[in-house]
Amino acid sequence: MSKKLPVVESVEVFPRGQSESAPFHFGPIEGFPASEKVYVEAAGGVRVPVRRVTLSGGEPPFDVYDTSGPQGHDPKLGLPKLRKPWIDARKVDGDDGNRSQMHYARRGIITPEMRFVAIRENMAPEFVRDEIARGRAILPANINHPESEPMIIGRSFLVKINANIGNSAVKSSIGDEVDKLRWAVKWGADTVMDLSTGEAIHETREWIVRNSPVPIGTVPIYQCLEKAGGDPTKLNIDMFIETLIEQAEQGVDYFTIHAGVRLAYIPYTANRVTGIVSRGGSIMAKWCLAHHKENFLYTEFERICEVMKKYDVAFSLGDGLRPGSAADANDRAQLAELDTLGELTDIAWKHDVQVMIEGPGHVPMHKIKENVDLQLKICKEAPFYTLGPLVTDIAPGYDHITSAIGAAMIGWFGTAMLCYVTPKEHLGLPDKDDVKDGVIAYKIAAHAADLAKGHPGAIERDNALSKARFEFRWLDQFNLSLDPDTAKDFHDETLPADGAKVAHFCSMCGPKFCSMKITGEVRELVAKQEMEAGMAAKSAEFAAAGGELYVPKMEGGEFISPPGKDP
Ligand code: SF4
Repeated sequence: MSKKLPVVESVEVFPRGQSESAPFHFGPIEGFPASEKVYVEAAGGVRVPVRRVTLSGGEPPFDVYDTSGPQGHDPKLGLPKLRKPWIDARKVDGDDGNRSQMHYARRGIITPEMRFVAIRENMAPEFVRDEIARGRAILPANINHPESEPMIIGRSFLVKINANIGNSAVKSSIGDEVDKLRWAVKWGADTVMDLSTGEAIHETREWIVRNSPVPIGTVPIYQCLEKAGGDPTKLNIDMFIETLIEQAEQGVDYFTIHAGVRLAYIPYTANRVTGIVSRGGSIMAKWCLAHHKENFLYTEFERICEVMKKYDVAFSLGDGLRPGSAADANDRAQLAELDTLGELTDIAWKHDVQVMIEGPGHVPMHKIKENVDLQLKICKEAPFYTLGPLVTDIAPGYDHITSAIGAAMIGWFGTAMLCYVTPKEHLGLPDKDDVKDGVIAYKIAAHAADLAKGHPGAIERDNALSKARFEFRWLDQFNLSLDPDTAKDFHDETLPADGAKVAHFCSMCGPKFCSMKITGEVRELVAKQEMEAGMAAKSAEFAAAGGELYVPKMEGGEFISPPGKDP
């Protein structure tokens, strides 16, 4: 059995002054070109970061939603504690022990976190409060993660993406995982899940939480299994609650809990092509069968709620029976579990605990919409949080693409947050490059969904980039893109000279066949012809009026002589 890990009260990775002895080296994370971080300020000390992109050609600067967090801080010391004064003030102002944002929202209180989110999303604070109170959105914000910049997950808001990181027993480095975190938020991850399963789970998580400007999620049963020596049959609710408290004390913002994997549903998976593919789902299924008892996460759910509300940890109710292949999509096991997740949502809401619902998985395109429709109905519009889904199983090595197709569709239909999939899915632990590929693929899916949903303002970035593209402002086109580095590198491969960055063509079609250049010339020609036609018309009008340079004016029935002419 592994050593029991201590609960950490500290909010610093290392005490100040001892950072030089920290064992990890962190390289700088470079920023974006032509960009600066600026803050939108509001009452109550709320300062919301945006990335301001400077444009050329007389265009105004363009502000982009920014998840990268405060820059220039030593990861050995962690990020500044932005929310600490807000959290402390609420403790002083009368505290019944329930610290959840939903609890405040239901009492009509608009917290600074809600005001922060309102600015980020360009929505009214009262609307934000109401959506949280109704359970249609969550604002994950553990009181022990004061470094986080508030964000919201709900289908009335921008579609969010999650990036998974974490050690495994085969490959393990805390430094690598902290680097992946910083890398993921740079490229736009809205939340990060630490799925560490190897050694040093507790220490890895401490480093990650202290350096994360975005909410952190975990799957506590993983650490619990380490405590049980890797034997699922030795798990129990006391061990689980102890692990929840340990992680909540560290500042984890949401927990994936597989409380919907009920004993009666496990036989439904017997004839599946890929059985139970969720790690947490398979662990709990083994426990249920070994003891022939109902899942203790289900039977003891109210005890779990007591921990969640004390720290404001949100539920991410896990889809332990999600399909792992197209053949298993929308089957009896998956939908039976969804029914239970709806029942658990009501219990959590009774405690004012925030809830989102996890979803599949592997689902062909024609079966995707049914997932959203059922989830919204059964779980009373609690936010849906889906992994992909992968729309086909035939492309290992490219599953960031197979899943981003499904993610764009399910986001359009109403999913609030998309969990990324990297090219390494099914094959190995993702490295830093895979994290970037996964994040970018999912930023595309989420933004495509925002456009399809008609989210206010979503199209402005497309319009700004398209205008830059048509006007051959190449650097602006790169700088407005999700990945300016790659866009510029691709252009540089064939046209590296500075002059090519204002040229009216690129190497794809060349100067004679550049359709945008030709269109520009067509427009100039039309404008010229319209101008000439206009001149000719005016000339004819002039001749028809007698060809006089000065035309006498009339006033009160009398001709008025223009200067130098007799009437
Ligand atoms: S050459 Fe072709 S690809 Fe390149 S800018 Fe012109 S139209 Fe676009």
